[in-house]
Amino acid sequence: MKQSAGYDLHCHSRASDGTLAPAALVKAAAAADVRVLALTDHDTLAGLQEARQAADNEGIRLIDGVELTCLWQRRVIHLLGLGIDPQAPGWHCYLNTLRALREGRAEKIASKLVARGLPDLLAEAREVAGRAPVGRPHFAQAMLNRGLVATPQQAFDSWLGQGQVGDVKAQWPDLAAAVEQIKAAGGYALVAHPTKYKMTFTRLRALVADLLAAGGDGIEVSYPGVTPNHLRDLLQLADRQSLWVSAGSDFHSPLQRWTALGRFAAFSSERHLLKRLCPEHAGLLDTAGQL
Ligand code: MN
Ligand code: MN
Ligand code: MN
Repeated sequence: MKQSAGYDLHCHSRASDGTLAPAALVKAAAAADVRVLALTDHDTLAGLQEARQAADNEGIRLIDGVELTCLWQRRVIHLLGLGIDPQAPGWHCYLNTLRALREGRAEKIASKLVARGLPDLLAEAREVAGRAPVGRPHFAQAMLNRGLVATPQQAFDSWLGQGQVGDVKAQWPDLAAAVEQIKAAGGYALVAHPTKYKMTFTRLRALVADLLAAGGDGIEVSYPGVTPNHLRDLLQLADRQSLWVSAGSDFHSPLQRWTALGRFAAFSSERHLLKRLCPEHAGLLDTAGQL
């Protein structure tokens, strides 16, 4: 059995909430037999330049990417931008707005936790985040460092997860704005991990309709946690709506056992985005069935 699909169109570096530096991530991908890699950090392009250099050294094809946080019908949706031009005008302003939103949210999370009797964790969360925007995983790590919780999961279960006091919603840009920015940068806009929003398929179809109306391109169909039934239903939806499809590991850290670079359920599709992004590597898809 093959351990790697040979490509991976969704992963994270330390530029957002991953644990590996972009160059180390690219090296790990090369070691995992990944020939085509898209770096898709949350709401930042800061890792792309370092990844590009490493990819050139390793002989890997790097696709410039991003995973944008946005709102659709008051739900937080993750939108992948693949094949974007990081130099395109508009990114600077768009990403600055997101950074300010995240910073404001971090302050709010910290003060809400203080109101519940916890110490002020903002400075420590910032330190954990380093150059990356402060998010809930950084607060979880800060809690762990202070011995307030035994595991990051416990931090989410008790304080930061959905419905908990630290689950602060920010007014992210809406789906159409995120699609517009990706398209303005020449990229493809795809809904990431569509079955992870706890939506019915009826609602998901409405999301896809709005995505297409906004000029978007498709959906991710294979990723960790997708069931064979989900995969089949997503491919069927993509087929009916003539969507582009992608796949990726959503890799964040070598410590996460359930995900590894280049690992996700195999499938075949005529409208695999890899064929459009780098036709010279489309041959990788022929062997994917062996995964
Ligand atoms: Mn993440
Ligand atoms: Mn995501
Ligand atoms: Mn992701």
